[in-house]
Amino acid sequence: MITIAIDGPGGAGKSTIAKLVAKRLDIDYIDTGAMYRAIAYKTVNENIDTNDDKSIRTMLDDTEIDFIGGSIYLDGRCVDKQIRTPEISQMASKVSALGPVREKLVELQRKMGHEKSVIMDGRDIGTNVLTDAAYKFFMTASAEERAQRRYKELIEKGESVTFEQVLSDINQRDKNDMERELNPLRKAEDATEIDTTGLSIEEVADVILKNIVSEK
Ligand code: C5P
Repeated sequence: MITIAIDGPGGAGKSTIAKLVAKRLDIDYIDTGAMYRAIAYKTVNENIDTNDDKSIRTMLDDTEIDFIGGSIYLDGRCVDKQIRTPEISQMASKVSALGPVREKLVELQRKMGHEKSVIMDGRDIGTNVLTDAAYKFFMTASAEERAQRRYKELIEKGESVTFEQVLSDINQRDKNDMERELNPLRKAEDATEIDTTGLSIEEVADVILKNIVSEK
């Protein structure tokens, strides 16, 4: 069994790279950010007050999250597209700081990570979810480059945003992720850091694959 953990800030290219590496190694990819986004989506849809602990817990008790064929399912419905909007990004950053949300999702992620070979990406995989992962990577890139990548993605999807808005969102989410009390974003001591600024997807995937092959 092989377990790979990838952490880093939003827009560093984690999911693109993780998908590619998963394909090359023929293992499952688990996008933990999508799980926080799914909870955020439900919170918005059901108009739940994030300050109301009881409502949050009731909602969580009544929520099922699953990956089927690489897609994220919320209560039996595929929400791949609905969770990728700037509004849900901001809400995901907010709900991910809540104790009951992290408790539920981390438990699910550990279960998924210990069942079979996986590559899992997020913010706290190497430091908290899968501390015993054989391979840990911490991907970074400058905030400007990450904003540029996200901006391009959103424009291609037809969202109307400005680069300045995307950059400001990225900076705000970095701050939330790094400064929150529970499982903040940080590099695990035993993680290999990869700065992806100026590197192509193939180049980054190669760094990871070489690391894995050379240690096998
Ligand atoms: O990676 P992505 O941008 O999709 O993640 C959405 C949000 O979920 C992040 O901004 C972060 O606040 C949160 N998250 C987290 N822990 C993880 C993965 C994501 O707190 N393991």
